[in-house]
Amino acid sequence: MIKFLDLHKINEGYQSSFEQKMKSFFEKGWYILGDEVTAFEKQFATYCGTKHCIGVGNGLDALVLILKGYIQLGKLQKGDEVIVPANTFIASILAILQADLVPVLVEPENTSYTIDPELIKEKITTKTKVILAVHLYGQLCDMVAITEISLAYNLLVIEDAAQAHGAVLNFKRAGNLGNASGFSFYPGKNLGALGDGGAITTNDDALAEVLFSLRNYGSKAKYENEFVGVNSRLDELQAVFLNVKLPKLDADNQNRRDIAKRYLSEITNDKIILPVWDLSNTHVFHVFVIRCKKRDALQEFLFENGIQTVIHYPIPPHKQKALQEWNSFSYPITETLHNEVLSLPISPVLTEEEVSLVIKILNLF
Ligand SMILES: *Cc1c(COP(=O)(O)O)cnc(C)c1O
Repeated sequence: MIKFLDLHKINEGYQSSFEQKMKSFFEKGWYILGDEVTAFEKQFATYCGTKHCIGVGNGLDALVLILKGYIQLGKLQKGDEVIVPANTFIASILAILQADLVPVLVEPENTSYTIDPELIKEKITTKTKVILAVHLYGQLCDMVAITEISLAYNLLVIEDAAQAHGAVLNFKRAGNLGNASGFSFYPGKNLGALGDGGAITTNDDALAEVLFSLRNYGSKAKYENEFVGVNSRLDELQAVFLNVKLPKLDADNQNRRDIAKRYLSEITNDKIILPVWDLSNTHVFHVFVIRCKKRDALQEFLFENGIQTVIHYPIPPHKQKALQEWNSFSYPITETLHNEVLSLPISPVLTEEEVSLVIKILNLF
């Protein structure tokens, strides 16, 4: 069976480096917000090209904390509206709700599947304060258009970069394309920890200062609390793993792009719609998403032939039970995508033979 994502194989390659670092981790005996977290924050800020990186507990918290940080700074207030794509992982939307703000859903472009900038303008009201730009599937959304809109309407741009570590636009990386960005290091992400982890990047000094405190009970000096904070710190042990893995991220992403190139040129089945990509580094192929009208039959066929696939995502956020009050809303592009999308295996450890087999089986469908 070709696994959709072989996490064991991915991390096996780092095992001896991990073990070496674990030795000093045990010797130090420092478990929360230690040298490894600080080193990772420095390394990841440098990588993204931002002034600051704040390590947090996970990607959802990264987004929640950015929004709460802006509330603390008086730039946002309860009830303000946040533009967010209807086609996203639900965390983008939950973050807005958790910060007591109002999500305003916008349909994606039918080519990139990321938020359609043309449709953003129609949804802007006097309450709109933020565009939450989700770089879905590893592809940067149209940040040129989004930045233009944000300047015209005086909006903050927050990136949900949980799927786009390392993507580049005009020599700037994801994480450095807006006012602040949330990253996830969930094990399956392009830069994955061996457990939960997340980070915020920003060039905003005031926001960074609030966030270093908010993530740690609203406290900078021990037992002195300035804000009603939370406990959401990047774990010291996860930072050990991330410090080892980050230097290989660019090579891993290139590997993913090489596989994507093969899929794009060698899959020739006209029942399958392939993703649109200009071959630039704006895409890091967190997932390789194809579309097919007979998606469920295709998934079954692939499985019978030893290929595991995943659907990102089977139910759109507005159709989830958790968001019942939105269930009657209509976002036809989003809904069609959820019925047709299928993610093929893609990862830095997928072999050429495995890629060839996936292509061969797909062309037989
Ligand atoms: C994974 C993901 C998140 C949430 O990250 P967690 O670390 O699982 O909390 C947020 N947004 C998107 C687009 C994601 O893919």
